[in-house]
Amino acid sequence: MTTSRIPGFYNLTLEERRAKLADASPLSPGELIRLTSPLAPDIASHMVENALGTFSLPLGIALNFMVNGRDVLVPMVIEEPSVIAGASFMAKLARANGGFTATSTEPLMIGQLQVLDVEELSQAAERVLAKKAELLTYVDAAESSLKSRGGGARDLEVRIIEESPIGKFLVIHLIYDVRDAMGANAVNTACERLAPKIEEITGGRAHLKILSNLTDKRMAKATCVIPVNELEILGQVDNLSYTGEEVRDGIIAAYAFAAADPYRAATHNKGIMNGVDPVVIATGNDWRAIEAGAHAYAARSGKYTSLSTWSKDKDGNLAGELEMPLAVGIVGGATKVHPAAQAAVKLMNVKSAGELAEIVVSVGLAQNMAALRALATEGIQRGHMSLHARQVAIAAGASGELIEKVASQMAEERVVRIERAVEILKSLESGK
Ligand code: NAD
Repeated sequence: MTTSRIPGFYNLTLEERRAKLADASPLSPGELIRLTSPLAPDIASHMVENALGTFSLPLGIALNFMVNGRDVLVPMVIEEPSVIAGASFMAKLARANGGFTATSTEPLMIGQLQVLDVEELSQAAERVLAKKAELLTYVDAAESSLKSRGGGARDLEVRIIEESPIGKFLVIHLIYDVRDAMGANAVNTACERLAPKIEEITGGRAHLKILSNLTDKRMAKATCVIPVNELEILGQVDNLSYTGEEVRDGIIAAYAFAAADPYRAATHNKGIMNGVDPVVIATGNDWRAIEAGAHAYAARSGKYTSLSTWSKDKDGNLAGELEMPLAVGIVGGATKVHPAAQAAVKLMNVKSAGELAEIVVSVGLAQNMAALRALATEGIQRGHMSLHARQVAIAAGASGELIEKVASQMAEERVVRIERAVEILKSLESGK
């Protein structure tokens, strides 16, 4: 049975970590190798144009995650230090109270048709709506493997854009169930099939036919409750000491800043995406699509704001909630062709796109809390320093065990600069 609790994982060597993961996860030895193997250049050259090779990033495992009562080992692909540690730490705290509770909606994507040159917009809109059932049946009549899997056209919506640089026009939304796919290709194909019928009915010209990345009918939500006494641990950093209540109130005040101010909200939401994107990337999903959807959703009221909320529940505990659009798939796209992405999906043992979205949104919430906790107590730089110092040590030319030595000396001195790393490295190499 999978366990996401592997104490001391961070202290192990790479080989020892792989051996531990083999014991703790459902992956076979071959799948474990694939999880961390580079993409073969010949596959890469079929994925993009003008390919020369591949570019790799670190892949780590976030531990301690329990989502809807199930332990899950979360693969994260990211170059930024502190993220995997932060998410794992917060997941450990959330675990004490049952972990994350997550839900996802049906996988409904929106395909858009921009209809130009329509004479009477309102009347055309009414004619389209009157033929809705017929149009949906028409879209679904096309040969589609999605249909046989229970997906397909679900609804039509009509909007009139009243103001734009070219004046008014009509927009049709085709609501399409894409099951376990991200669904871009299926939705775009369905929109193109629908277009001539819409032109016939409206007398206009169907110009753009493409999905929207503001997938607000395909949402995922995670919640967690952190007992206030658990928060006490977070308040003990070096010579600083905060009570659980102080940490809780500090996190809530930090959230309030993001709720009220777009400048802060952008950074707050970036912290959430620090958790979301690495899982999206590890599973071969389109992170630009997820980013676009997240930020557009954050601005849905007309004012950009926080994607998450943090509050005090009736028992005085810290309650977090993150709800966002999450159009991720477990079939299709790069997920299908990248062997590491397939292994990542298998590692999490997810059986549907919704289940993957529920894990992703939980990691986003954990990561958000990690950043808020650091900001509200020690400040971000202190916690970040030793990990950041390792990157600076590598940049200065350190390798092997010298990386750790140079990094810890810089962290101790609280001077994390490449010039200092070079000096320390030189003195260590010369044995002084
Ligand atoms: P896809 O077309 O490769 O895969 C989806 C197909 O998988 C379905 O049409 C179906 O035939 C098959 N399938 C098998 N089992 C399935 C199941 N259980 N549920 C659903 N389908 C199943 O990929 P896609 O998901 O349509 O598109 C994803 C790709 O499209 C990504 O690579 C993305 O980058 C790209 N894309 C994105 C945008 C955008 O976001 N604006 C636009 C165009 C393309």
